[in-house]
Amino acid sequence: VNSLMSGLGTTVFEVMSGLAREHQSVNLGQGFPDDKGPEEVRVAAADYLMTGHNQYPPMMGIPELRQAVAEHAKRFQGLDIDWQSEVLVTSGATEALGDCLFGLIEPGDEVVLIEPLYDSYLPIVRRAGGIPKLVRLEPPTWRLPREELAAAFSGRTKLILFNTPMNPCSKVFDREELDFIAKLCLKHDAYAVCDEVYEHIIFDDRRHLSIMTLTDMRERTVRIGSAGKSFSLTGWKVGYVTAARELMKVIAKTHQFMTFTTPPNLQWGAATGLRLGDSYFSGLAADMQRKRDHLAHALSDIGFDVLPAHGTYFVTTDFRPLGFNGTDEDFCRHITVEAGVTAVPVSAFYDAPEHAPRHLARFCFCKHDETLNSAIDRLGRHF
Ligand code: PMP
Ligand code: GLN
Repeated sequence: VNSLMSGLGTTVFEVMSGLAREHQSVNLGQGFPDDKGPEEVRVAAADYLMTGHNQYPPMMGIPELRQAVAEHAKRFQGLDIDWQSEVLVTSGATEALGDCLFGLIEPGDEVVLIEPLYDSYLPIVRRAGGIPKLVRLEPPTWRLPREELAAAFSGRTKLILFNTPMNPCSKVFDREELDFIAKLCLKHDAYAVCDEVYEHIIFDDRRHLSIMTLTDMRERTVRIGSAGKSFSLTGWKVGYVTAARELMKVIAKTHQFMTFTTPPNLQWGAATGLRLGDSYFSGLAADMQRKRDHLAHALSDIGFDVLPAHGTYFVTTDFRPLGFNGTDEDFCRHITVEAGVTAVPVSAFYDAPEHAPRHLARFCFCKHDETLNSAIDRLGRHF
């Protein structure tokens, strides 16, 4: 029998959600809201399912969604996007990431990545034959180490892949940092693939800025979004990629052999969502910010050191002040089994968890107050 060695491990989200189910804990690990999502969006998808065309939609996505993605980019980022040649619909941002990386990377190309990183990035970069060049952000500030980033780029760099607002550390890259990254891309003739799935989940009056809007970056940026995140419908797996025509051609070629298309009714629903008024998007951010504050204050009262969270669904916490002696994996297992609350160890977001910070746990706050309160009560009683 041939050996099957994909080199791919099991994602931490599956591991922790499995453990949460086993112990019936309150799952603040894997990031997904327990809200139903906007009714207009769900009704649009349901109506389309019953009355619309349920056969293969166009390979690039239904026109209504591609147009809505372009309009949304104009409305929020001032970008002029040609919906016909510069927008692709994918089955989630996860597929979008795969399409971009498999499409753009040639074996031996160097790829700059920023740790901590979302769990699908490294396995796909490696599987595509890319050579990762990792640059680390250090807690608690997660500041961009400019000299190290500059040193990670070379004539062999094909692209940088990064995420803002950033999972798991909830950092939002500011204009100066994005400018610094853009200048490196221009200097080394590299692309920027930017995972912007949390573009609308951003707090304290910050505004999401896409690196695509910076000088000379329009033609060399690939921007990735997710209806799952923008409409609290993570199970839908509808993503969208925006990129200049020449880049898009390559990315779309990968997409045609990965999934080819995405369910048309969900695309229709996502188009309806992207056309919601500004108050929907500001309301989403305000709602999430309130949840962040609620959980962050409570965890801090329990004795955690809570790190700043400027966007995303997550707060990272330093559990050492609670007196716990063990790794972050031990801690997350311990609170699942003993307190009935699940979180995710932050070391899982590093290439080599054994050499990563081992004192941080990520909690997800995109939950109803009752869910958050139940987790808070359980942790409060335990510690
Ligand atoms: N990128 C980041 C940073 C994420 O947190 C997620 C997770 N949900 C994804 C991509 C994947 O998004 P999707 O569910 O649309 O595939
Ligand atoms: N993005 C979600 C998180 O960070 C999980 C997505 C997944 O399960 N793959 O928790």
